[in-house]
Amino acid sequence: MSNDHVDLDGFIKGVERRNPGQPEFVQAVHEAAHDIFDFIQGKPAYHEYQILRRIAEPDRVISFRVCWEDDKNNIRVQRGWRVQNNNAIGPYKGGIRFHPSVTESVLKFLAFEQTFKNSLTGLPMGGGKGGSNFNPKGKSDHEVMRFCQSFMTELYRHVGADIDVPAGDIGVGGREIGYMFGQYKRITNEFTGVLTGKGLEYGGSLIRTEATGYGAVYFLQNMLEAKKNSVAGKTAVISGSGNVATHAAEKVVQLGGKVLTLSDSEGFIHDPDGITQEKIDWVKVLKNKRRGRMSEYVKEFKGATFTGGGARPWGVKCDVALPCATQNELNGADAETLVKNGCIAVSEGANMPTDLAGIEVFKKARILYAPGKAANAGGVAVSGLEMSQNSGRRAWKEEELQQMLKDIMLGIHSRCLEYGKDKDGHVDYVRGANIAGFKKVADAMLAFGVV
Ligand code: NDP
Repeated sequence: MSNDHVDLDGFIKGVERRNPGQPEFVQAVHEAAHDIFDFIQGKPAYHEYQILRRIAEPDRVISFRVCWEDDKNNIRVQRGWRVQNNNAIGPYKGGIRFHPSVTESVLKFLAFEQTFKNSLTGLPMGGGKGGSNFNPKGKSDHEVMRFCQSFMTELYRHVGADIDVPAGDIGVGGREIGYMFGQYKRITNEFTGVLTGKGLEYGGSLIRTEATGYGAVYFLQNMLEAKKNSVAGKTAVISGSGNVATHAAEKVVQLGGKVLTLSDSEGFIHDPDGITQEKIDWVKVLKNKRRGRMSEYVKEFKGATFTGGGARPWGVKCDVALPCATQNELNGADAETLVKNGCIAVSEGANMPTDLAGIEVFKKARILYAPGKAANAGGVAVSGLEMSQNSGRRAWKEEELQQMLKDIMLGIHSRCLEYGKDKDGHVDYVRGANIAGFKKVADAMLAFGVV
């Protein structure tokens, strides 16, 4: 029964063989398995019950057709998915992404990461993720509504307040959550907390919108404070200009740091004068209301430059970096540049933004490096609090929620230290997050036996 003889390479080859054409999923499993293999040496129960192999095999992957009609009466066909990775410690929980780059591999990697992240929060949530290759850019509100309704017309069968509770992610914000919640309620005639990230009028939680970006900066602050340092006075390079990036920027500014960059898929803006709260508010309106592009920033704010061609901001000299756009947006060469330019800390607002080569560079340089599964868990944590508020039919005050978010991020930081601290005091946050996230889920799975 024991698979002690299976080494890491053999395990990864097996994952590759079973998941052909799914590089993102294999990458995410590889990154976590490296640390987990070390941890489970000498702990035969984890081997015998094939715990890692089982976590790396989603409970189920639901794939479905989504038909909708555009404003010119053309029938459009998209593919939708829900990946339910693991519900050992609570209902499946994880966002929905609408973006043309969405594939089964991307959603499987996100659901796998989510399992560890949700465990790290200390809240009772399993891991899932869903989405579609639908591109909301350039679509009218009515087109987005028809798509969301059609998507939910299948998804409703697979989700529920105690089964699987989706939220937003890239391309899915308050507008899309509202359309999906409305359709769920229409079909089931039930008002339950089946989605999080809802509007405040219908069961949403205060600070859910801000939580991921704020949390990533709290985590950065926790890492710096452990070194008797702080965000105050630091220059920060941030990628992205969506929900996570703008709120990360806001918190850096609130803590006395200076934000130099933001980006979108077309390129990045560099504002040497600093991106102030007023400028961040302008970006929020640009992206959320006008649905505009970051290149417009330089027309509004003199002294800023825009670098196009999909360029990323990692060449701008900074003290700290927050990748907040998408997966694999920071490679080995980018990581070398950041380290060479004196960057002392990286906190990932996005999921898996740094590729395996980039992670190696950060680890070798021994800078403070927080992987997304730890640093961006603030969003899902407040989603967990939204679920509690919905079940208890109550709404907590903003100050209470702000404090809970800070406490949860501090708790995640402590869990990372528990398994990530070396004898010389250096902290490997990747190892800490992987092992702490794994252990809780693994021990619950052992309790259930072979199911
Ligand atoms: P948004 O849709 O609000 O913003 C995404 C941003 O990233 C936009 O600026 C977008 O630019 C840019 N972007 C998207 N895809 C690419 C790409 N392929 N190349 C370059 N830039 C890209 O999403 P969020 O801010 O919610 O999510 C950002 C990241 O944070 C994702 O990795 C997500 O999984 C992660 N995350 C989000 C959470 C949340 O609560 N929202 C929770 C935890 C993690 P453009 O406008 O050009 O598309």
